[in-house]
Amino acid sequence: MYFDPVEGLDRQSLEEIQSERLRDIVRQAACSPFYSRVFQEQGVDPLDVRGLSDLALLPLTSKEDLRASYPDKMLCRPISEMVRLHASSGTTGAATVVFHTAKDLRTWADLVARCFYMVGVRPHDVFQNMSGYGLFTGGLGIHYGAERLGCLTIPAGAGNSKRQIKLLQDFQVTTIHIIPSYALHLATVFEGLGLDPRDLFLKTALIGAEPHTEEVRRRIEGIYGLKAYNSYGLSEMNGPGVAFECPEQHGMHLWEDAFLPEIVDPATLQPMAEGQVGELVLTTLTREGMPILRYRTRDLTRFLPGPCPCGRVHRRIDRILGRSDDMIIIKGVNIFPMQVERVLMGIPEVGQNYLIILERKGFLDQIKVKVEVKSEFFVEDMRVLKGLQDRITGLLRDELLITPKVELVEAKSLPQSEGKAQRVMDLRGEGHG
Ligand code: ADP
Ligand code: ZN
Repeated sequence: MYFDPVEGLDRQSLEEIQSERLRDIVRQAACSPFYSRVFQEQGVDPLDVRGLSDLALLPLTSKEDLRASYPDKMLCRPISEMVRLHASSGTTGAATVVFHTAKDLRTWADLVARCFYMVGVRPHDVFQNMSGYGLFTGGLGIHYGAERLGCLTIPAGAGNSKRQIKLLQDFQVTTIHIIPSYALHLATVFEGLGLDPRDLFLKTALIGAEPHTEEVRRRIEGIYGLKAYNSYGLSEMNGPGVAFECPEQHGMHLWEDAFLPEIVDPATLQPMAEGQVGELVLTTLTREGMPILRYRTRDLTRFLPGPCPCGRVHRRIDRILGRSDDMIIIKGVNIFPMQVERVLMGIPEVGQNYLIILERKGFLDQIKVKVEVKSEFFVEDMRVLKGLQDRITGLLRDELLITPKVELVEAKSLPQSEGKAQRVMDLRGEGHG
C-alpha cells in the first residue's frame, strides 16, 4: 500500500515520466536569467533535450552557481508568483536561497507525506517536530508533510529539552523528527531527570539532516525504544523528502519521479560504475518556480544494487558517507568523520558526544579525538580509564590507519549544538582549513 501510486510503478513507466518531466523542466529553466545565460554560453538548445538519454547535454550546476545567482536569478517566473523562500543552513559557507510557488509547496508536502506513510505513520499519529524552524527546511518542510498526512503536528522547534520532554509526555507523541546528534544529547537530559524515554509512547523517529552512522541509529533506537529511519534532503532540492528509508532500513529510496539522480566521479564528473561511491547529482523534475539542473550536492554515496523487498522501484542510495569537503587529510591519510563515529558509537562505555580536533605540532599534523564517557563508567580509578583510552585508541587506529590522540572527558562536557553537530575543529591554521 503506497501513499502515491507512483511509488509502485515499474521501471519503464517511471522512466517515461522522468523523460517527459526532464523535457519540460529544461524548457522552463531556460526562462531563468541564470540558465538562459548558461545555455547560450555553452550552446545548449533546450529543444535538443528530448529525454533521459540527453541528460549529458546539460550543464552541471554548483553551489557557487547558486551563490552567484543570489538572490533570484534562477527564478523562471516572476517573483510575485513565489510564496515562500528557504535557505541552506550555511554549513559550508554563504547561504543559498530557494523559492517555491504554491504548487511547489504542495508537491513538496506530498513528497514528505509519502516518506512518513512509507514507514507506517498514519493520520492518528501525534507528531513532534524537534528540528529548527525558520529558514531551515527541516522545520516547515517536515511540518507541512505531517499535516498533509493528517497527523496532529507539534511544531516544537529546536532545543529547550525539558519542554520537548513535557510535550512528548503530555500529548502522547508517537512520531518525532530529530537531528541524530540532538537525539543523543536529549537522551542525557532524560537521564539527568531520572526518566526513561522507553516509557513514552514513541514508535517512530525520522532522523536526518546530518551524516550519522548505523551505530548511532541503533543507539537511538535502543535508548528511545522505537524505529529510526534515515531522512535525506537538501534545501536546493526543497529539503527533506528527497530520499527516505523504507521499513527494510536498508538504503533510502530516492523519489525519482521528482528528482533525477546521477552518481558521478567528483574529479572527472563522469558517471560512476553501478554500485560505486561518488558524488550525488540531482535534477528537480517538478519544481516550477526554481528548477535546478544537475546539481552537484557534494554528498558522497552510491546506488544500492538490486531490487528492494518492499517493491518500490525508486532506486536506493546508501547512507551518506559525508560531504566531499568533509574529508580530512592527515599525514597523507584520508579520513571521514563518520569513520571515527562508527568506531566510537560501537563502544558501550562511550557516551553520546565526541569531537575531532586537528592540530599542528611543529610540522606534523595530528588528530585528537575527545570522547565523552558515560557517567557510570567515568570512574575514579585511573587504571580503568587508561585501559578504556588504550582500547579506543587501538580501535581507531585499526579503522583510520593512523594513531589518534584520545582524550576521555565527562558526559555532557563537549559543546552541543541544537542544529547540525560540528564534529571537526580544525586548529591547523591558514591554508589547511
Ligand atoms: P547546508 O548545506 O548548509 O547544511 P541544508 O540544510 O540544505 O544546508 O543541508 C543539506 C545537507 O545536509 C545535505 O547536502 C547533506 O550534506 C546533509 N544531510 C541531510 N540529510 C542527511 C542525511 N540523512 N544523512 C547525511 N547527511 C545529510
Ligand atoms: Zn524499500
